[in-house]
Amino acid sequence: MTTTSTIKRIALFGSTGSIGTQALEVIAANPHHFTAEVLTCNANDDLLIKQALHFNPNIVVITDESKYTKVKDALAGTDIKVFAGEAALAEVASMDVYDLMVAAIVGYAGLAPTLNAINAGKPVALANKETLVVAGDIVMQKAIEKRVPIIPVDSEHSAIFQCLIGEMRNPIEKVILTASGGPFLGKKTNYLVNVKREHALQHPNWNMGAKISVDSSTLMNKGLEMIEARWLFNLTPDQIQVVIHPQSIIHSMVQFQDGSIKAQMGLPDMKLPIQYALSFPGRIKNDFPRCDFRKYNNLSFDEPDYRTFRNLGLAIEALKEGGNLPCILNAANEIAVYAFLRNRLGFLEMTEVIEKTMQQVSFIKQPSLDDYYESDGEARSYAADLIQL
Ligand code: NAD
Ligand code: MG
Repeated sequence: MTTTSTIKRIALFGSTGSIGTQALEVIAANPHHFTAEVLTCNANDDLLIKQALHFNPNIVVITDESKYTKVKDALAGTDIKVFAGEAALAEVASMDVYDLMVAAIVGYAGLAPTLNAINAGKPVALANKETLVVAGDIVMQKAIEKRVPIIPVDSEHSAIFQCLIGEMRNPIEKVILTASGGPFLGKKTNYLVNVKREHALQHPNWNMGAKISVDSSTLMNKGLEMIEARWLFNLTPDQIQVVIHPQSIIHSMVQFQDGSIKAQMGLPDMKLPIQYALSFPGRIKNDFPRCDFRKYNNLSFDEPDYRTFRNLGLAIEALKEGGNLPCILNAANEIAVYAFLRNRLGFLEMTEVIEKTMQQVSFIKQPSLDDYYESDGEARSYAADLIQL
């Protein structure tokens, strides 16, 4: 197929995940706007093969090298190029074969390919918030240098981004990040001490990958999003407020210097911010369910319970201190969530692991990219030792 300037070639990093599969639904529904040019995943070979046979991309990458032969053989009758391994993942991000990267890998693993996309001058639709939590200063600096737009996919940040359209000369007074509160809203520590992965994975409003579901249940997700917002919109920590809004209809708000507040609203459906990030600056008609305000006679707003959900406080501390502390927080959290998901660590113990790791790993005020890599490694091994993983 010839590529015209109106068709965006999408490189979907993390195509088998929750965001990845929803992005493919958006691409499939809009064949005149988008093609899937690159698909990547960690280890889900069966789904990657199925996606590749359906979307006929130029390239697929599977990070788990032990799955290479299976994917290669399954796609032998096609022109699709198959690569495997972490290095290949990063290299493909640097190739001039696509127009927009959707960064939908979960966790720290998304950092290297996203940085390479920016270095290659490719716009990024960013779902992978950990990239900005770990190295937001370097990532955003590089994006400015390369004049590459970073378009948020995270619903809160997409909301803020949409509220800011037409307001570029108007300073932000503050942003209000809404949080659903997760599955344990209103619960106290005596309840949380006993919760297991099955409970944490039951989010009331969103159906997401395992890691972000746990992060939502601990409110770490909102803390990571505060740090993400700090970098995306160049804010100071005190310009970012979190409000519990269990209905998830208002996705976030911006308050301007005259006190006027803009909100972006809709039903909680990630396909909308995904589609917007793909179509930006345009909008595409779709048939997603619409929000009927007559059915919502109670949109409520509340202060988060910082005493119970201490991860949020730890993230705010990292946001305020800056340096490599958010990177350390993120690494310890990834290890803690991994252990919790395998029933190796209790729900409340996750906070202890993160807190101790933040105290232990040396603080660096202005880290280089190598410092971030090292801090991440150090924090991971310290946290893993604590849990005896
Ligand atoms: P997921 O676990 O469902 O999918 C993750 C994807 O990344 C998969 O394709 C997986 O194969 C790939 N992956 C995982 N580890 C990898 C590694 N080490 N190397 C290479 N690839 C790897 O996750 P998700 O819920 O789709 O979330 C993806 C990102 O988007 C996260 O950063 C999350 O915070 C963010 N996000 C997700 C949602 C949501 O609704 N799911 C909403 C907002 C933001
Ligand atoms: Mg979000």
